[in-house]
Amino acid sequence: MKYDFFQTPVEFVKGVGPQRAELLRKELGIFTQGDLLHHFPFRYVDRTKFYTVKEVSANLPYIQLRGVIRSLVVRGEKRRKFLAGRFEDETGTIELKWFQGIKWLSTSLKLNTEYVLFGKPNEFNGSINIIHPELELASEAKLSLPSSMQPVYSTTEKLKLKGLDSKGLLKLQKNIRMSFPTSFPETLPQPIVNAYKMMSRTEAISSIHMPETLADMQRAEFRIKFEELFYLQLRLLKSKLLRMEKYKGLIFKSVGEKFNSFYHDHLPFPLTNAQKRVIKEIRTDCGSGHQMNRLLQGDVGSGKTLVALMCMLIAIDNGYQACLMAPTEILANQHAETLSKFLEKMDVKVALLTGSTKVAARREIHKRLLAGEIDILIGTHALIEDPVQFKDLGFVVIDEQHRFGVEQRSRLWKKNEVVPHVLVMTATPIPRTLAMTLYGDLDVSVIDEMPPGRKPIKTIHRFESHRLQLWSFLKSEIELGRQVYIVYPLIEESEKMDLNNLMHGFESICRDFPMPKYHVSIVHGKMKPKDKDFEMQRFLRNETQIMVATTVIEVGVNVPNASVMIIENSERFGLSQLHQLRGRVGRGADQSYCILVTGPKLGNDARLRIKTMCETNDGFQIAETDLRLRGPGDAEGTRQSGMLDLRLADLSKDGQIVQIARDAATAILKEDPELQNPLNEVINRQVEIHIKRTGQWGRIS
Ligand code: ADP
Ligand code: MG
Repeated sequence: MKYDFFQTPVEFVKGVGPQRAELLRKELGIFTQGDLLHHFPFRYVDRTKFYTVKEVSANLPYIQLRGVIRSLVVRGEKRRKFLAGRFEDETGTIELKWFQGIKWLSTSLKLNTEYVLFGKPNEFNGSINIIHPELELASEAKLSLPSSMQPVYSTTEKLKLKGLDSKGLLKLQKNIRMSFPTSFPETLPQPIVNAYKMMSRTEAISSIHMPETLADMQRAEFRIKFEELFYLQLRLLKSKLLRMEKYKGLIFKSVGEKFNSFYHDHLPFPLTNAQKRVIKEIRTDCGSGHQMNRLLQGDVGSGKTLVALMCMLIAIDNGYQACLMAPTEILANQHAETLSKFLEKMDVKVALLTGSTKVAARREIHKRLLAGEIDILIGTHALIEDPVQFKDLGFVVIDEQHRFGVEQRSRLWKKNEVVPHVLVMTATPIPRTLAMTLYGDLDVSVIDEMPPGRKPIKTIHRFESHRLQLWSFLKSEIELGRQVYIVYPLIEESEKMDLNNLMHGFESICRDFPMPKYHVSIVHGKMKPKDKDFEMQRFLRNETQIMVATTVIEVGVNVPNASVMIIENSERFGLSQLHQLRGRVGRGADQSYCILVTGPKLGNDARLRIKTMCETNDGFQIAETDLRLRGPGDAEGTRQSGMLDLRLADLSKDGQIVQIARDAATAILKEDPELQNPLNEVINRQVEIHIKRTGQWGRIS
């Protein structure tokens, strides 16, 4: 086998050895020299800058001080012992603390000798200290200062004990560098490296660990991020190309009688321009001969259902069946009702199939479906089950996409010989950067306009202590004939306590809003679907004015008369969840309110979430903030992000590079779709490596 520098086990790096190698494998997943080189710094510090003790405050990041240790004392009880040091410069003193390595440190640290200290200031009981600082004798520090940009590596306590703190890891980087070959093989096509004036791979790997200047560091970072994103985009675009080739699409030749008659005679209100545009986009797709795979994004209440219905009518006009899949039974029921009402005066056969459909009815549906006697089938996961066979399925709508796993979605595909067109609808706006990445092989349509006549929802933050005023506001709204949601968090980890809170809340609401004047419903995830549905129906019919619920009502439910959404403990909800919940009101003509109730103490992130909610109704803006706060791994709809394998690039910050990389990948595939040009050979090689690491991706929809 050919010698490969990157594949060489990490033991062979000078200063590693079997023991440290074992730890590096266990703690950081570093097996090879290549892994070590790809353990990038997560930050750099300017080691030319020194602070003085007087300037130190807890909100500073890692800083450097120059001074002497005046005393070292072991304090605390047996198991909570720590070493306390007093560090002094000409402006004052600050406390240092070590919880580990006490014995060794107290003998090896020198008193009254100048040190360079490096660490992160913290605040504890009103005074500032630095825990586990790095210390270097000033006389030695002068010699070892490499440049102003000192890398900081993530490490673990166990590694630190074996001398592999950030500085120790840097030392390994220096050692490995001594055995570098003159150059590493390039991993991007040379024309691209040239076109973007990028560093070579060799330069980038070297500069990311030991940049000489800030500009060097930035160029190295760009090159590495670009490469990660380029291969991601290339694979997505390639799989889209493949899909276009492989799956011939059903051709919907024309809009026909059903669509036209609905449009001209039965549409209860004019379509918004955004709805018209999206229907046109979908129509064009379905006539193109390629299979459509489209993501439809539109804020809650933007009218996606109607768009779906009209597209399904086009399918029916062309002799096909359609189906609409919803994530919950409540939603499926509601869709069935809505569509049946829209289609009341038309000859379109709609059926509903859910988990609670009785056996006999279910068999009947299976039979009629296969005979082509059902035009539109609406349902839950039940639609995916094997006995469900269509005569000729042409159009699939999946509502609220993030509730369905990739695997479940792909099972719907197999319902037909020719793959049907697929429209995935989501009310969770996905920031562009993420959409380009996670759904990079889908086409995206956006409804960015609300139906006319809606008043924007007023969002207000209230502390728990203002509950009396809040209740009297509720009473006045109910007096006006409106209905109210009161939502409690129910989170798996704290399920028991949350259920308790919910029940307590429910009881006290029943007391404060007594019968017969008021009627209160409750719905939560632990109830039987039948009971849930019963309560939802009562609320829908305005037989109860208050709906106490958990987030089960988050998705899709439509009660236009409800005008107040109260979210209890709202500091515990994520932004996109808050936004989804808020979308349950503001569906009628009345002024609606969303009231975010919190306890007295709020963390920084929670405060920002509440503030964002109070300031804007724009789902995309909220999604951007959510992405910034939580990072791409957690943002709603991005659970698949494990496939991304990004080490340096950060989708929440590197949107621009995503775009540049996507453009570059698009250009390459346009010129050389099969990647046969010798200049692109390197791409094929890299893609193979990429596939080995991240696996062959399943179809995203
Ligand atoms: P979502 O996009 O959240 O699924 P829906 O499809 O449930 O939204 O639509 C929300 C409400 O707006 C429904 O009551 C629907 O009938 C109504 N609606 C949809 N399109 C229009 C329109 N063009 N003009 C007025 N109302 C509309
Ligand atoms: Mg909807």
